[in-house]
Amino acid sequence: MALETVIGLEIHVELATKTKIFCNCANEFGAPPNTHVCPVCMGSPGVLPVLNEEALGLGIRAALALNCEVRRDSKFDRKNYFYPDNPKAYQISQYDEPIGEHGYVEIMVGEEKRRIGITRVHLEEDAGKLNHAAFEDASYVDFNRAGVPLIEIVSEPDIRSAEEARLFLEELKAIMQYCLISDCKMEEGSLRCDANISLRPVGQETLGTKTEIKNMNSFRNVQRGLEYERSRQAAMLGAGESISQQTLRWDEASATTVVMRSKEDAHDYRYFPDPDLPRIRLAEEYIEERGREIPELPSARRDRFERGYGLPAYDAGVLTAMRSLADYFDETAKHVTDPKTASNLIMGEILAYLNAAGKDIANLPMRPRQLADLIGLVEDGTISTKIAKDVLKGMMSSGKDANAIIAEQGLVQISDEGQLREIALRVIAANPKSVADYLAGKDKAIGALVGQVMKETKGKANPQLINKIIAELIRQA
Ligand SMILES: [Zn+2]
Repeated sequence: MALETVIGLEIHVELATKTKIFCNCANEFGAPPNTHVCPVCMGSPGVLPVLNEEALGLGIRAALALNCEVRRDSKFDRKNYFYPDNPKAYQISQYDEPIGEHGYVEIMVGEEKRRIGITRVHLEEDAGKLNHAAFEDASYVDFNRAGVPLIEIVSEPDIRSAEEARLFLEELKAIMQYCLISDCKMEEGSLRCDANISLRPVGQETLGTKTEIKNMNSFRNVQRGLEYERSRQAAMLGAGESISQQTLRWDEASATTVVMRSKEDAHDYRYFPDPDLPRIRLAEEYIEERGREIPELPSARRDRFERGYGLPAYDAGVLTAMRSLADYFDETAKHVTDPKTASNLIMGEILAYLNAAGKDIANLPMRPRQLADLIGLVEDGTISTKIAKDVLKGMMSSGKDANAIIAEQGLVQISDEGQLREIALRVIAANPKSVADYLAGKDKAIGALVGQVMKETKGKANPQLINKIIAELIRQA
């Protein structure tokens, strides 16, 4: 029996606001525990929450960026549950009237464009964080996160493989970052993902029984967790067993899913409208303004990089994964003849440098204009590509101009024919074997001779010129 995989994702994204969603406590990661708390986010009796407009605006911006319809009239509800990280014993969320609905995100799966539906986007507050002590029988709770604004994004069950789930998440993250909605740092919990997965015979309309996987803290683990769960369910169904609806946890150490609890249904939460918060009624102009805050999104930018700059799809994908990188490339490409040269340097040397240094390109001392000048020096023959890579290293660490580094280190390319002939004659005399090989028809043998000249000139010889000179000298000999 051929089985089809059906996956839906629920993603929590912490909004990059200055303060929490219903009080004035700072929304800041990494502060000492329980320093950003007040009677409102601690749920003291008699306090009143007040909606943070910045959070509302970012939530609407997110809904629009995900092609959702924005609800003109919505409300907050109380989701009731007891847990030590939840001081009020309810979470303020949105139940049946989410801020956004019926959206979609398009992703490329290989050559195929796939549209993944977005069921809803709603606003809610985050819970605190429990820290389980490793060597004592205790757990500590940090309420700094309690009341941090979140959006929950729920996808339609349109995803058909673990790989598609990862691609969808990468696209979603890029959209959130482009729109400055969240920093989306999975390692700090500002982007979190739960996944529902079920299998059904190919061609069947009704969905199979699903399980939900929580605690996947990287894109890689999302893919691994879903792949594992798909195989587990397929093996059970193949053996004639039935799947029970459960909440599972991805355990990285054992690379398996572990049962957390059997799944709650919505009625277990006894939702009701929060009586402390007025309804949210949005003016058309307010929604339009939020729409104008959305920049060119990653997919549009990818298309433009391919068509406008003539870049391969791979380059366009890498360069647009982060807005700061795409901005940097755009700015560089304006000032160079061949954008592909800029793309090669950014995807190669520059990304390698940034990854090793753990830096974002926005903080690189070398500005796009300086990179463009360096590329210009290669194009007009002042320096070789090899030298350019050394100069580039100096520029990235110091922020100095290419010309300053070239002058300091005497790196200008040697294009003086007389000087190069002299060196070439010495190299030819010292390497009779390579000369013989070349004369015997092994064209590649010239590479060894060119390499020797490069070595003597510390890479400064003009490579085209030295190739020509060596070939001429051998033929004349
Ligand atoms: Zn507070």
